[in-house]
Order: sequence, then C-alpha cells, then structure tokens
Amino acid sequence: MDLGLTGKVAVVTGGSVGIGLAVARGFAAEGVHLALCARNADRLAGVADTIRAEFGVKVLAVPADVAVAADTDRLVQAVQDEYGGADILFNNAGTGSEETILNAPDEKWQHYWELHVMAAVRLSRSLAPLMIPRGGGAILNNASICATQPLGYEPIYNVTKAALVMFSKCLANELIPHGIRVNALNPGLVRTPDWEKTARILTEGRAQTWEQYLQTIADENAPIGRFATPEEIADFAVFLCSPRASYAVGSTYYVDGGWLRVT
Ligand code: NDP
Repeated sequence: MDLGLTGKVAVVTGGSVGIGLAVARGFAAEGVHLALCARNADRLAGVADTIRAEFGVKVLAVPADVAVAADTDRLVQAVQDEYGGADILFNNAGTGSEETILNAPDEKWQHYWELHVMAAVRLSRSLAPLMIPRGGGAILNNASICATQPLGYEPIYNVTKAALVMFSKCLANELIPHGIRVNALNPGLVRTPDWEKTARILTEGRAQTWEQYLQTIADENAPIGRFATPEEIADFAVFLCSPRASYAVGSTYYVDGGWLRVT
C-alpha cells in the first residue's frame, strides 16, 4: 500500500531510540524528511547520520529537552528554517515514573506535566499553523495504555498520560476544520532498550535472567504473551499519520497485545 507520504516532513520527539527511533525509521522508509529531537546530542547525531545514509531522506537533528519551553521554541524555529514547516508531528518523548501520591512532591508532578502534556501543547500550538498552508497534516500523541489502565507504581505517569489523551481529543476537534487530524496512541508493553536495561538491573544477582523477567511481565499482562517490538508500534503510527488514515480523527488507538481489560 502506498501511504502517500513521500516528500512530507515529520517532527518526531524522542527520536533517538525505542519507539521514536522506530517511527522515525518507518517515516524515512516512506520517503519522509525528518526533524528529530532528544536530549543526548551525540546519540541523536549518530541516529540522524544512519537514517540519512540508509534512506536518503533529510534529517534535521535538534538536541532539545521538550519539557523546557525555550527548547521546544528552538526546535520549531529549526524546523521552520530547514523545511519552512511540517506535515506531521509525533509527540513521543516521555518516560515512566515511580512514586506514591502521598510522597511525591509538587516538583515531580510539574516535571511530568511539562514532559508529557505541555511539550505536546507547545509543539502543536506552534506547528499546526505551519501545517495549514501545506494543506493540513497529522498530529499523533504517544500516550500509553496506562492512560486508561493504570500501573500502581507510577501514578504521575498514569495521570499525565491520561491528560495527554484528553488533550488529543480536544485538539482534534479544534484542528479538523483545518485538515489536521489528531489522534492518540496507547501502546502496551514495547521492548525498548530501556525495558531491557531495567530488567537487567532488577535481576542482577538473581536466578531469573533478565529475559525471563521480561517474559514473566508479558505473560502476566499481555494475552499475546510477549512484548511488542518498537517496529510493530511504528507501522501503526506511520499509517495513522498517513493520508490513508484520512477518517481517523480524535481517537485513541490501543496497540497492546490484548492487555486492556475493558474498553
Ligand atoms: P525510550 O526511553 O526508549 O526513548 C525515549 C526517547 O525520548 C529517547 O530518544 C530520549 O532521548 C527521548 N527523551 C526522553 N526525555 C526527553 C526529553 N525531556 N526531551 C527530549 N527527548 C526526550 O522510551 P520508549 O521508546 O520506551 O517510550 C517512548 C514513548 O512511548 C514514551 O512517551 C513512553 O511513555 C511511551 N510508551 C512506552 C511504552 C513501552 O513499553 N516502552 C509503553 C507505552 C507507552 P534522550 O534521553 O537523549 O533525551
């Protein structure tokens, strides 16, 4: 299926590893030029070089912390300078948390609010006006199954991802008259290097291997009995951002191997 994405421009936050990297590579494979951001400049530059060499698309690498307004402003300016605008925004940068509500200070709540919600607000607010003269576009917000089905150890993650989903719905209604489709993605377990690192740490000195630890988590949670690969999420995300998903507006898509217990 031709997704009709050749020559488009996509901004991917957190595009240097994990789901963001897989999505960036998925776009590049469709001939989409990229603007990628992440905090670690060296890793980002390496990824940009690899994608350029492999797919022959333009890749703008902007080291930026999306939780900081000045950095998202800088990212938007760089996109405008390089491409004159963008057609796709994948708000992806984010991370898990670990706390109890009774013990977490305001600062922690505020940080995750900036990272998971305000980054998407600011980038959408700045990039949507640049999409309109190009005939519209697509914004996809990478939330999590935890937006609906919370994990007990990370209430701040659950709450801020739920806010991101509601933001997506509100933004979808505001932007669809301009031809910009906004949706949210709720992945389940996705086997990223970060999960592997956590599993290694948690099983250090134990009889259980880190691979067995991950398998136990998959068995306990996902009826499919395994983690997704980042590429399985990317295929879905790239399609959703393509004109072939033209009637997908304001929805939340679970890609979770059956983990969500009720709809
Ligand atoms: P990874 O930790 O593998 O990658 C995160 C990416 O985001 C990296 O490129 C990282 O680069 C970047 N990043 C992190 N914080 C910031 C920041 N403040 N500013 C800019 N870039 C940042 O994460 P995943 O691929 O696992 O997750 C991606 C998204 O998917 C997250 O929002 C996560 O909540 C969501 N998700 C993940 C699931 C999973 O099982 N993996 C399941 C459901 C949702 P750097 O560190 O250099 O900044």
